Amino acid sequence: AKRSDQDRICLFKPEMEGALRRRVGLEKALRRALKAGEITPHYQPIVDLGARRIRGFEILARWRDPQLGQISPEIFIPLAEQQGLIFDLSMAMLAQACRDAADWPEDIGLSINVSPVQLRDRRFPEDLLASLRAHGFPPQRLEIEITETALIGDVDLVRDILVRLRAAGLKVSLDDFGMGFSSLNHLRQFKIDKVKIDKSFTKTIFEDPESALIVRSVLHLAHGLNLMTVAEGVEDERTADMMSLMGCDFGQGYHFGKAVPAAEAAALAARPAGQ
Ligand code: C2E
Ligand code: CA
Ligand code: CA
Ligand code: CA
Repeated sequence: AKRSDQDRICLFKPEMEGALRRRVGLEKALRRALKAGEITPHYQPIVDLGARRIRGFEILARWRDPQLGQISPEIFIPLAEQQGLIFDLSMAMLAQACRDAADWPEDIGLSINVSPVQLRDRRFPEDLLASLRAHGFPPQRLEIEITETALIGDVDLVRDILVRLRAAGLKVSLDDFGMGFSSLNHLRQFKIDKVKIDKSFTKTIFEDPESALIVRSVLHLAHGLNLMTVAEGVEDERTADMMSLMGCDFGQGYHFGKAVPAAEAAALAARPAGQ
């Protein structure tokens, strides 16, 4: 009986211990990397589909640990959120991005991903605007990308925060559009400026008639509401052409380029149209 009790209590032990140790190890590594400035912003081009010209860059956090190698944001962003590190991480990305982009052409904008956790903090807008002021970076050049999960919960608080940021000149994009539900009402309720069509739709637009229908509907709706549109996950010319034909304003994806370090982004930003 003793042995089976122990077995029961320790049912998950072998796997959990390994997972837990890895997790604690990763947490420590994340804290250290953040302090050491080893998490850096990379920049993925966002292209005007009509003019085929880079109009801005999305800031994407990158982390290469000396021992662990490259770690995906899909892993370390949720970890940072759980550990209360997302504010520091986000502010570090923003500060570095402001410095990096300071001498890029003025019509090149930046967009930054904002975690739902941040949109529940009253001080967030002031912190963000203070950082922009400190770096002399015009708020009009910055866009925040939020996901629909951020819009659920304390609606008034989130709305206040977005109103404050928009009043200062920032634009608001709704990321991964089509993945959530009740999306349509969110567009009105939160005064969104731009909609980013999730890459799962873009990537299947030729194979899946339902994807094509959803994309078409989203574009129609967005333009009816006077919103700009971005297709994520554009991986080939055919898709870029189709999206453009369907009236999508901007494209982003491996076809136009992956996220690159600041120096490469600067070179891309400086390139005139058509080159
Ligand atoms: P996201 O905001 O939806 O960012 C787009 C993701 O799609 C990026 O993954 C990007 O590298 C990838 N991607 C871009 N073009 C293509 C394409 O043509 N095909 C495919 N298959 N993928 C493409 P990444 O960099 O791994 O980032 C994953 C997620 O992590 C992001 O999704 C975002 O939610 C989050 N994230 C990244 N950096 C930050 C950050 O600084 N702060 C916050 N809060 N979240 C971040
Ligand atoms: Ca995004
Ligand atoms: Ca996205
Ligand atoms: Ca995503």
